[in-house]
Amino acid sequence: MKALVAVKRVVDYNVKVRVKADGSDVDIDNVKMSMNPFDEVAVEEAVRLKEAGKISEIVAVSLGGKKSEETLRTALAMGADRAVHVETDAKLEPLAVAKLLKAVADKEVPQLLLLGKQAIDDDANQTAQMLAALLGAAQGTFACKVVLENDEVLVTREVDGGEETLALKLPAVISADLRLNEPRFVKLPNIMAAKKKPLEKTTLADLGVDISPKTNVVKVAEPKPRQAGIKVGSVAELVEKLKNEAKVI
Ligand code: AMP
Repeated sequence: MKALVAVKRVVDYNVKVRVKADGSDVDIDNVKMSMNPFDEVAVEEAVRLKEAGKISEIVAVSLGGKKSEETLRTALAMGADRAVHVETDAKLEPLAVAKLLKAVADKEVPQLLLLGKQAIDDDANQTAQMLAALLGAAQGTFACKVVLENDEVLVTREVDGGEETLALKLPAVISADLRLNEPRFVKLPNIMAAKKKPLEKTTLADLGVDISPKTNVVKVAEPKPRQAGIKVGSVAELVEKLKNEAKVI
């Protein structure tokens, strides 16, 4: 059984992003970039399923500029078998990403498609859902446990007030939440070995997908700075302030 894992190159989660002076976008020049943290969890899950003998091949796929190759090499170092890089400098909306991933899936025919629940740069949380719809496949989003059994996969997801377990028919699209697992630390020999693993390049033209945008970013702005807090002297003063200043009680 084959698994396809989508990995996106994003601004590292430790970086405090800055908005460009013209408010058109976030400034990513000379900023540390890494694999989207939710995608690391998705890769880790695929590798664990392979180690448990449940799947036989892991294909990592990334859409983006030349440097997305580094993200794919990280996925290969974690344990993916081969990689597909859809090389483009175009700005891709989740629908375009979903269409491109579908085009790759149509060629690869995976039984399991693992994505992150959201990319930490656009925070869209849309791609997995759209991909499942385009493929006509089952979807299990925000997975915190995945059990693969014969022709179905049990996905436990965190919902308001508890957990829900869904039995999905294969092929299925799963989006990973952070609690699904803790990704492994990649060791140097694995990084070296990953350099020799196959990485196939393809283009938007090869895949024949319309990626024209449906939305337009009007403005990007920094959040308003938070006001400094104050210390209150007593419970009575706190209650008085909540009542008369904050007006929340
Ligand atoms: P989003 O819907 O943009 O929040 O992204 C959800 C998930 O879709 C990510 O965690 C990735 O698994 C996948 N994804 C989004 N954009 C890309 C991309 N450019 N290349 C590969 N995977 C992507």
